[in-house]
Amino acid sequence: MTLYDLLNEGSAALLQAGDTDGENDAKLLLFEAFHLDLVHFLMDRLRPLSEQDEQVQEQIRTYRSMITKRASRIPLQQILGSQEFMGLEFYVNEHVLIPRQDTETLVELVLQEQQSTEKKLLDLCTGSGCIAISLAVKGGYESVTATDLSEEALKVAERNAKAHQKEIIFRQGDLFTALPQSEAGTFDIITSNPPYIPTAVIATLEPEVREHEPMMALDGTEDGLKFYRQIAKKAGTWLKPGGVIYLEIGYDQGEAVSGLLREAGFDKVRVVKDLPGKDRVVCGIWPD
Ligand code: GLN
Repeated sequence: MTLYDLLNEGSAALLQAGDTDGENDAKLLLFEAFHLDLVHFLMDRLRPLSEQDEQVQEQIRTYRSMITKRASRIPLQQILGSQEFMGLEFYVNEHVLIPRQDTETLVELVLQEQQSTEKKLLDLCTGSGCIAISLAVKGGYESVTATDLSEEALKVAERNAKAHQKEIIFRQGDLFTALPQSEAGTFDIITSNPPYIPTAVIATLEPEVREHEPMMALDGTEDGLKFYRQIAKKAGTWLKPGGVIYLEIGYDQGEAVSGLLREAGFDKVRVVKDLPGKDRVVCGIWPD
């Protein structure tokens, strides 16, 4: 038995289970179980693994148990416990949405447009904290507050903030109700990537998403717009005059969410596209 045999065994099992990226996933799990990098893998892959070495045998068992998990379509990131976002490492588990590259569009836009270090930022539905923490690290704002309804998600976000040595103010609760009234009118920037998938669409998603990512992070109710309606209606109360809101959206929600922001009184409402060219962020300014 060699590392190469284990890799082939794992890839075959994953491809069989419908994981189209099975080969690469098996490689990453092998590297994790054996604490390998590519160079050491290439050097050692054909050397027979010791049958007497208990540590090696334990690594083989760990690898196989991770392959079994992945074959049941548990997301790779939940097995490894991490996902990279904006060049930073985020711990993830089954209580948070796995940070997506799509969301980097929002973070990069905010960094481009909001450069002062004196600004106060609020991130709603923070999940893993990927938006709030990457903005705190790269934007250096005066303060960053992050809210989520889920206590389990906030534990993950707190752990991530600590890992990146950022002081984030975490508040648990449903959107703005998580905040003390004294903070009304004090934020310069609001960001959010709320749940926005229409309920009926969830059943059509890959098993990794529909069975293993938190439903409460995905489900935007019947038309996918529930959270945008609530956020649009109340955001003005919490922004300073001239404050800006940035909302991540689904590719076909640009018009609807722009409409909600305009109706609520926002100015200069714009839709911004992601790199592949799909509508991805809606932003607007709360008038002076
Ligand atoms: N804000 C988090 C993210 O962008 C969580 C989003 C969510 O749970 N809908 O990943």
